[in-house]
Amino acid sequence: MKTKRVIAGTAGLGLAGLLAVAAWAQSKPEETEVWTPTPAKVAPAKDPGGAPSDAFVLFDGSNLDQWVASLDKSPAGWTVADGVITVNKARGNIETKKSFRDYQLHLEWRVPADITGSGQGRGNSGVFLASTGPRDQGYEVQILDSYKNATYVNGQAASVYKQHPPLVNASRAPGQWQTYDIIWRAPVFGADGALTKPAAVTVIHNGVLAQDNAVLAGETVYIGKPAYKTHGAAPIKLQAHGDPSAPISFRNIWVRELAPRS
Ligand code: MG
Repeated sequence: MKTKRVIAGTAGLGLAGLLAVAAWAQSKPEETEVWTPTPAKVAPAKDPGGAPSDAFVLFDGSNLDQWVASLDKSPAGWTVADGVITVNKARGNIETKKSFRDYQLHLEWRVPADITGSGQGRGNSGVFLASTGPRDQGYEVQILDSYKNATYVNGQAASVYKQHPPLVNASRAPGQWQTYDIIWRAPVFGADGALTKPAAVTVIHNGVLAQDNAVLAGETVYIGKPAYKTHGAAPIKLQAHGDPSAPISFRNIWVRELAPRS
């Protein structure tokens, strides 16, 4: 018998070892099987990067109905043509009408092939994972042409702006579509408004891990040190950066809300 053979092979084990083997011999595989609750069924998209069945689609190529101008909540004034959004820098940032806490976000962005400029002035935009004000308040994952464009590394594409450089530079050349798949864990604040759990973000850039559960020290800021201020569910915001380089474009944006952390 199999069990007997195992036990016969335990000569030299101490009492504790023998007891462990005896316990193993009496265990059944079913004891460690979990059958309920069953995970919700989600139909994945037919094409890579497409919205799965439980996603909330923020842009499907047709209109900006899910977006407003961050400054005054008026209709988003960016351009939609040929299934693509292009930033209108004169109209400022845009943000989602809906607010979110924790989520998985997919978006695609493209720097124009004929982009000019250098450093932060070359295809700069960004996705603010929670918008906490009409301008650049919130938590920005940088969007920038970082294919062949030196800048401070905690400000290049896929950085958590001025907090975490990306683990690697997975940038594609200008003119090509790039993807971000982001897991956002919003900060948690107690009833008194004090921070109880900082925000954390994972970013996959063009299929490559760029931020691995990076913990944020607060909102991302251009000057000075990051700090938290209390907020709840918040819009997702796209940046109209003021540099003079040609505006970038976006397409295929969807989000899946996740159960918040306690
Ligand atoms: Mg930016």
